[in-house]
Amino acid sequence: MKCGLLGGKLAHSYSPQIHSQLGNYSYSLFEKSAEELEDFLKNGDFTGLNVTIPYKKSVIPYCAELSDCAKMLGAVNTVVRRNDGSLIGHNTDYSGFATMLRTSGLSVSGKKVLVLGSGGASNTVVAVLQAQGADPVVISRSGENNYEKLHLHSDAAVIVNATPVGMYPKVGVSPVDLTLFPALEGVLDLIYNPARTQLLLDAESLGLIACNGLEMLVAQAKESAQWFTGNLISDDVIPKIHRSLKNSMENIILIGMPGCGKTTVGGLLAKRTSKNFVDADEYLAEKAGKTIPEIFADIGEAGFRRLETQTLADLGKQSGLVIATGGGCVTVDRNYPLLRQNGTLFWLQRSISKLPVDGRPLSQTNDLEKMYEARKPMYQRFADHIVDNNCEPETAANTIAKILEGNV
Ligand code: NAP
Repeated sequence: MKCGLLGGKLAHSYSPQIHSQLGNYSYSLFEKSAEELEDFLKNGDFTGLNVTIPYKKSVIPYCAELSDCAKMLGAVNTVVRRNDGSLIGHNTDYSGFATMLRTSGLSVSGKKVLVLGSGGASNTVVAVLQAQGADPVVISRSGENNYEKLHLHSDAAVIVNATPVGMYPKVGVSPVDLTLFPALEGVLDLIYNPARTQLLLDAESLGLIACNGLEMLVAQAKESAQWFTGNLISDDVIPKIHRSLKNSMENIILIGMPGCGKTTVGGLLAKRTSKNFVDADEYLAEKAGKTIPEIFADIGEAGFRRLETQTLADLGKQSGLVIATGGGCVTVDRNYPLLRQNGTLFWLQRSISKLPVDGRPLSQTNDLEKMYEARKPMYQRFADHIVDNNCEPETAANTIAKILEGNV
């Protein structure tokens, strides 16, 4: 069976990875221009397709039949070629978002939910919310309910982002200021790259429920796989695939005092998890064409910190890395969202007496005990987990790997 994803630009698709865990069929990426669409749909060598931006509506005229859900939404994200060669169009985004909403734990019945954006995904979200008895309000840049009138909706209980704002590579921006909504319980963002958009990071910092769109992506793929194969697939696969995908995308980030073992432990973790290892200071030095002591001598600590923030912005938005950070990165608050957007942060702790100082400009010129006392609350603020490294590095790496295996 030959299946695949049809879309305009497919560079960062996770669908092949997901479908490889859903059934015994090949899954290719079919990147097509609007001019190529008709010939591909009529004569293309495929049995089943997922359809993404910008073709969810354009494929409809080529479908001999639409499922009730596809008809209701006026959009198709799954196409199956029948024995007579004709195409049937389905929409599995509906059940994908319904799964995301259910697993978020948010109850929306009788509550106001703001849906940001008025495109195809917004339509689907609104239909699911209405079916669950919520009161959805679409916020559109050009609509009656627009971003200048958000103050009229301070009673919103949930916000769903169905815009591309905050998506890789244009990370670090949020479509709304969450402090405008005192009754807010949670935020759902259909974006899954980065794992935590600025909107979700803001929700996390306010202690709200915050979920990205990865579960939706997996759940819609599961229903599509059922249409492709004609076989029922248990819902139990959804959290399993979600976890494996999340673990492969997530960055593992090591913070801690200079010399606490981040490079050694990071190297071991990279091997164990098949992720690429990056030492942030080495990356920075290579880009600058100078050693770290030379950079300190030339532009001082403030200049170094600026370069470090740029480095962490570059690395933090990538996926599937183990990143050993410089010991002082926690002294700049702005570095936290850069690291957290795709990563879990581990604070490696090692006794001060065991820390080497060679080649470390700040360790040589400062009393390490004093430096540790000053930075301790900062490490605490950044850390998701604290891991002892007064042991063999393998033991610390094992501890981190175990924490991640239980993570989702
Ligand atoms: P779309 O049809 O292009 O619609 C996006 C909507 O967002 C637009 O209609 C627009 O609404 C708004 N928008 C676009 N650019 C904006 C900007 N710069 N600032 C503010 N608003 C902007 O895309 P879509 O198919 O609905 O997808 C929307 C998002 O959901 C994408 O990020 C997509 O990747 C994601 N998605 C995820 C899944 C999943 O499985 N997790 C599935 C489907 C979609 P207004 O003009 O009304 O403001």
